[in-house]
Amino acid sequence: MRLCNALEKWRVAVKNRDNHTCQLCGSGESVIAHHIKDTYDFPALSLDMQNGMTLCRTCHINLHHRIKLPASEKPRVYTVIDGRLTWSVI
Ligand SMILES: [Zn+2]
Ligand SMILES: [Zn+2]
Repeated sequence: MRLCNALEKWRVAVKNRDNHTCQLCGSGESVIAHHIKDTYDFPALSLDMQNGMTLCRTCHINLHHRIKLPASEKPRVYTVIDGRLTWSVI
């Protein structure tokens, strides 16, 4: 599927840009490309390099599970500013 390939390329490109290093803790283990603006809420940004950041598996889980918002406050943005997990509602 074309979209899957495009997303896979995006993931590789984001990780290459960030030197396969977690942007939060600096770990290089099990890194993934995280969407800062959720693809569910912002499908148009799913392949935008500016919308990607590299995180390790642990930090990624923390980012998504530590920050909980009521469904009514969607859409949301998950990111890291100055080494701290941050979310915002647009
Ligand atoms: Zn990390
Ligand atoms: Zn994520």
